[in-house]
Parts: sequence; C-alpha cells; structure tokens
Amino acid sequence: MTRPETRPLVFGLRIALWYATLFVVGALAIVFLTYYLTAASLAQRDQQIIRGKLGDYAAAYARGGVRVLAATVRAEQEAAPERLFVRVVNRGVEAIVLSNAEGWDPATLETASVQLADGTLVQVGKSTEAREALLARFRAVLGVVALSIVVIALTGGWLATQSAVVPIRRLTRAVRRIIRTGRTDARVPVAGTDDAIDELTVLFNTMLDKIEGLVDGMRGALDNVSHDLRTPLTRLRGTAEMALAAAASGDDRERDVQYREALADCVEETDRVLVMLNTLMDISEAESGAMKLTREPVPLAEVVARAVDLYRDVADAKGVSLVSHVASGFSRTTDDVVVTGDRIRLDQVAANLLDNAIKYTPAGGDVRIDVRRDGDAAVLQVRDTGQGIPADELPRVFDRLFRGDASRTERGLGLGLSLVKAVVEAHGGEVQATSEPGQGATFTVRLPLA
Ligand code: ADP
Repeated sequence: MTRPETRPLVFGLRIALWYATLFVVGALAIVFLTYYLTAASLAQRDQQIIRGKLGDYAAAYARGGVRVLAATVRAEQEAAPERLFVRVVNRGVEAIVLSNAEGWDPATLETASVQLADGTLVQVGKSTEAREALLARFRAVLGVVALSIVVIALTGGWLATQSAVVPIRRLTRAVRRIIRTGRTDARVPVAGTDDAIDELTVLFNTMLDKIEGLVDGMRGALDNVSHDLRTPLTRLRGTAEMALAAAASGDDRERDVQYREALADCVEETDRVLVMLNTLMDISEAESGAMKLTREPVPLAEVVARAVDLYRDVADAKGVSLVSHVASGFSRTTDDVVVTGDRIRLDQVAANLLDNAIKYTPAGGDVRIDVRRDGDAAVLQVRDTGQGIPADELPRVFDRLFRGDASRTERGLGLGLSLVKAVVEAHGGEVQATSEPGQGATFTVRLPLA
C-alpha cells in the first residue's frame, strides 16, 4: 500500500503524466505531419522538374530524332550536371540510354515518360538519392526535436503539478498534525492565493471551529451537570448522615420522627435530581430528533388558555397580573392560529415561558401571553415587566444549565429555556429572546402554521 505521505506525490505524478502524454502525442502528430508534407512536396518538385524536361526532350526528339536529343542531353549535362537519366525506347523493342547508362536503376529513380506520335517512348528519370539524403537529415533533426519535446513535457508537467500539489501537501500535513495531537484549536494556515485549495482550507478551518464549539459545549454541559448533581447529592448524604447521628441518642419515638423527616427530605432531593436528569434527557432527545412527538392539529389559543389556567394562582399569589387576549374573550381572531404538533410538549413550552416570566417579575408587574398569526407563521409571545436580562447573558439563556447571575436566588435548574428551544426547534420553529434590562423580557416563539 502507498504510504499516506506519498499520496499527493503519486497524485502529482499522475497528473504530470497525463499532461505530458497529451502534450507529447500532440507534438509528435505535428512532427509527423511536417515530415510527411515535406517529403510529399519534395517528391512533387522532382516530378515537376522531370515533366518539364520530358517536354523539352520530346520536342528535341521530334525535331531531329535520337541525334538531336542526345546532343541536347549532353549539352545540358555539361552546363548543369544534374543527374538526369534519359532513355528512348523504339516501339517497345530497342532501348537507347542516352546518359549515365550504368545508373539506370528504376528503384532509385523518380521517372516519367511520354509516348510520341510515332510510338517512340521517351523516359526521363531523376535520382532520388539527394532527396533521400535530405529527408534522412530532416528525420534526424525531427528525432532530436521529438525527444526534447518528451523531456520538456515531462519535466514541465512534473514541475507544474509539483507547485499545484504543494498546498495539498501542506493541508495534509496540518490535518495529520491535528489528528496526531488531538488539538482542535490548531488551524491550517491559509496561503492567501485565493484558489480552490484556499477555499478548502478555509472550509476545513470553519469545520474545526464548529467541532471545537460542539466539543466545548459538551464539555461545559458535562461540567455543569456534574456540578449541579453534586449539590443535591451532598445534601442528600448530609441529611441521611445527620438523621443517623441525631437518632442515635434519642428514644424510639423521637428516632422515628427524625427518620421520617430525613427520608422525606431525601425523596425531595432525589426528585430534584430526577427532574433534572429527565429534563436533560428530554432536551437531548428533542435536539437529536429522537423525541417522540404525537403530532396533531393544535390551536395555540388553547395552549395559552391552559397555561394561563395553570399559572393564574401562582401569579395572583405573587401579585403579578397575568393578562392574555385569548383568555379575555377575543379568541375569535386567534382561532385560525393552528399548528401541527405535540399538545403536551407545546403546553410545556408555554408553561416554562410563563413560569419564568412570573418568577422574574416582582409584585405589581405585568405578564402578557398572546397568540397571533404572522404571514405563514404562528406566533406565541410572552412579555413581562420584570428584571429583564443583561445584554451579556442574553445569548446564553438558552444554554443548558445556564442561570443568570441575578436569578440564583430563585428556584430553578437552568433547563427551562433549553427545553423550550429544543422542543420548538423539533417542531420546525424558532424562539427568540429580547430584553431591555430593568424593563422586562420578551420571548417570541414562531411555529409553522398547520
Ligand atoms: P431557570 O431555571 O434559571 O429559570 P431557564 O432556562 O428557564 O432557567 O432560564 C435561564 C436564565 O434565563 C434564567 O436563570 C434567567 O437568568 C434568565 N431568564 C429566563 N426568563 C427570564 C425572564 N422572563 N426575565 C428575566 N430573566 C429570564
């Protein structure tokens, strides 16, 4: 198997070979074509020369027979000793060779002939030796050229792909380092060349950011859960321990009472822990999509009416006025605000929001809960005139186990809003918090209309 480090190298080599092959095939095709065309045009030129001479000689023969023709040939060969061969065949019987008798070898000659009116055949041949020598030299030159093309194509392709592969190798090295060290805070340096590799690097870094965020979130949640479990469990242990210690001295009846009280306290503490764990699991299920939702058409006005019924007494007891359009008989306008969802889970959303609003609003304040339709969304809104949420806490109120600094005196687990968000998002909706610290807070849930 190829060692992982060499993979980009092999990849580079493959690309280089591809390009080199294409380049070489193209170049060789051009070389061969050039050779073929040159050879053809040289042959054509020889043919032209021969045909020109043939015309002259035929005319000379026609003028004075073999004698005049022989004189013409001799005179010509003295003036320009081009290696032409001339032969006259008399009516297909007798052949008179008029020049270079020993060289007449049709295999090395380019020939042409013309038949005169009296049946005499005049033949002219031109040696192809010079042409062949020229073409041989040309072939040698082309061979060297083709070889250089192959070498240049291979080295050029190799160098070009090397420079293309370098960023990939850098990315690979960085990724390998991250895998080896397990440090998700490491990032791959961006070369700044603004190409596809750069884009990939940036995307990769973004993915690392996301993973780091998730890991941090999980770590934080785990820390919080451990921390929040420790308090009730310590209390549980303390209660049991104290009961055991105190009861050791008392009489039977007193011991009975102390045991009973301690056990009741233990049940209460255990309930707290159970509620917390159950809520945490609900949130996880809703977030992962594993929460079972019994979907049915649910008019939001009914959800609000039930929540108001549930919290009417709590609000009264605290001296907070709880108002809703829905409960005050204007429900006609909200009849058509129906969503498809799990009735019980949606009740939980409204209840959690109302619970918070009443909890964080001092006596004399107002809490409003309303339903309206906004485009193709159903909106449920809870507004209060309470302490509000500081700007730095606002982005974290939906985090698991997050509790505001000013809210620690109130009962709570810091899970209510996380559950609201998880359930709303499991229904394909979204929840938003806005607040003017000191003036109150507004929570808006938007769900798709049925
Ligand atoms: P808790 O159990 O603390 O109420 P939640 O998840 O319901 O947990 O809320 C998280 C934090 O958001 C609270 O601790 C509080 O600081 C803040 N918060 C939520 N609702 C309101 C509100 N209506 N007014 C002011 N602060 C709020």
